[in-house]
Amino acid sequence: MNETSVPNYQVRVRMAPSPTGFLHIGGARTALFNWLFAKHHNGTFILRIDDTDTARSTDESMHEIYDALKWLGINWDEQYVQSERKNIYDSHVEQLLASGNAYHCYCTPEELEEIRTQARADKQTRSYDRRCRHLTSEEVERFVTEGRKPTVRIKMPDTPILVEDLVLGSRNIDPDTLEDEVIVRSNGMPNYNLTSIVDDAEMQITHVIRGTEHLNNTPKQIAIANSLGLNLPQFAHIPLVLDDTGRKLSKRHHGDLVAVNRYREQGYLPEAMLNFVARLGWSYDDKQEIFSVDELIEKFDLERVGKSGSVFDIKKLEWLNSHYINQLDVVARTDAVIPFWEQEGLVDSTTKRDWLEEIVEAVGERLTTFQDIVPQTRYFFMDDFAYEPKAVKKWWGGSDEKKQKTCEILTNLGQILEEIPTFEIETIETAIWKYTDENNIKRVAAMQALRIALTGTSFGPSLFDIVVLLGRNEVLKRIPKAITHL
Ligand code: GLU
Repeated sequence: MNETSVPNYQVRVRMAPSPTGFLHIGGARTALFNWLFAKHHNGTFILRIDDTDTARSTDESMHEIYDALKWLGINWDEQYVQSERKNIYDSHVEQLLASGNAYHCYCTPEELEEIRTQARADKQTRSYDRRCRHLTSEEVERFVTEGRKPTVRIKMPDTPILVEDLVLGSRNIDPDTLEDEVIVRSNGMPNYNLTSIVDDAEMQITHVIRGTEHLNNTPKQIAIANSLGLNLPQFAHIPLVLDDTGRKLSKRHHGDLVAVNRYREQGYLPEAMLNFVARLGWSYDDKQEIFSVDELIEKFDLERVGKSGSVFDIKKLEWLNSHYINQLDVVARTDAVIPFWEQEGLVDSTTKRDWLEEIVEAVGERLTTFQDIVPQTRYFFMDDFAYEPKAVKKWWGGSDEKKQKTCEILTNLGQILEEIPTFEIETIETAIWKYTDENNIKRVAAMQALRIALTGTSFGPSLFDIVVLLGRNEVLKRIPKAITHL
């Protein structure tokens, strides 16, 4: 759809998750595209819970979906729950049965399996032979007496169905490929294809924006709508999200890698997640990667949604996340990392806030996720760390002679730090450089030797920050410990 043909009516879109598990990346993307489209056009975004599959739907999952959407900042204007709307679907089914556009099917699961096997052997395009379309009243009576519980099937038309799609273009669907879909299960619960298109009409949905995995459902829904004389929404199917091997991202194959909550728990920012998800299948000019929410709302349109699958690249998400983390001031970053420290038992309510902020300040731009704070700063809180073998080999020395030298340097540095009158960055820095320069010791060698003694690793914030943040007592405890280890 181009901008010049933007509807002059109220845009109404919906996201219709089935509460059968966590909100996954694909679901978040569907929610976001619908939400952005609604916001862009000053329209209405509806959340509709597709829970007529009672065997698989759970309240827990429904609440998880709400939480994940709220965390992302995707708010909805109206909300519906399909299991509360059964009478609406029932009346539409009645209408279809009365007009002869639907029929009861009494086939048992075993019979259906036989029919399917036969159809396959006969190379039929359809797997159900529509035998219940033409039951006599005697047959129906017999089945009812046998206690069979019928399903309801829709009669598919004999003429092609035109599917017009704002992303994929138009195509005609050969009616020979269409099954007489079951629209009501034998337990009386209506199925997705019926409830979805009935609700789309009832809720005056103008655009159905959803993943291409639903492409095969669209002609069925159009057929149902046509039989009921319902208005059709416009359809826009958005490309699949793929992993780096080209496989569709799915709960089954990728587990919680696709769960939105996983990213929340690991300390990703909703802004980063939204930005990342927006670019799964949509691009503005192929160059711009960073978009604020307002910018997304302003720039989003369906025209720039691609036809082919888009790859889920976790590196890009990490990059975006560190970008958004680095936008936050130290107070906000500290607020965000405290729960991760607390979870690990490193920090509690007695820990001094100022000191924590200083640690966060020292860590600087090194966080990809807030969770990274734990491995990067654990040594500030406890001294039971191991000395990284690689770092030890490189900076403390492989040979006895080099180790001897390191011990000497550490001993001298310990003494300097013990005697220094003020334990502050500038004085410490001056004293240490004076010692290295006067004794012809490479600055970096002394620094790294001390860093490993204090933190166990050769990477991290500025060493002088670490020394001051640990404080004199702690530093003077750790140096002899390292010397003993050597
Ligand atoms: N309940 C379906 C799903 O979760 C909704 C599909 C649709 O948008 O029509 O995939």
